[in-house]
Amino acid sequence: MIQQIPIMRVCISCRKTYDRKDLLKITKDHRQGIMLNQGMGRSAYICKSKKCFSDSKIKKKLQKALKTFLEPEFIEIFEKEITSYNNNPH
Ligand SMILES: [Zn+2]
Repeated sequence: MIQQIPIMRVCISCRKTYDRKDLLKITKDHRQGIMLNQGMGRSAYICKSKKCFSDSKIKKKLQKALKTFLEPEFIEIFEKEITSYNNNPH
C-alpha cells in the first residue's frame, strides 16, 4: 500500500506550514486570471484561521505573493469566501 504524503504549503499570513487541503488557494491563472482553489500558475495559500483571514494586510500580502493587482471583483469573491469560513467553524 502506498502511503499518502500530504502536500505541505506555507500560509502567506502566519508563515506556518499546513496540509494543502486545509488551505485556501489563490492562483493567478495564465488564461483566466485570479482564481480560488483552482487554476494553473503562481499560487498563494492562506490557512483557514480567523487570525489570517482577518489580517488587514492580507490583500497586500496576496498581491505581493502573486505579483499582480487584485481586481475589486476578486476581493469581493474572496471576502465572501472568508465570511463563509468564519460562519462555519471546524
Ligand atoms: Zn495562517
